[in-house]
Amino acid sequence: MTDMSYVDGNMLDGPLRELFAVDLSPAISRCQSCGSLSPLAGLHVFSHAPGLVGRCPVCSEVILRLVRAPDRAWLDLRGATFLEVPMPVEPTYHRPG
Ligand SMILES: [Zn+2]
Repeated sequence: MTDMSYVDGNMLDGPLRELFAVDLSPAISRCQSCGSLSPLAGLHVFSHAPGLVGRCPVCSEVILRLVRAPDRAWLDLRGATFLEVPMPVEPTYHRPG
């Protein structure tokens, strides 16, 4: 790879919205390599690979890969030890009476 330019992880929003019902931009990933925490929006995304490659902003290791074919997608998160996804607070139900 000769072109080392990248865009920020905000560009993952659209492609990931195809897969998940929640906005993953603010989701926090922990890098398996260096242990740093960063939101997906902060990853360095290389879009000129086969698919999208999101790299850790601290150590540059691969956090995720997303490949989209016409009828399916592959999401590889092996570079993250976890993904912390903010969720809407569950609604509280009021009992009648
Ligand atoms: Zn890292």
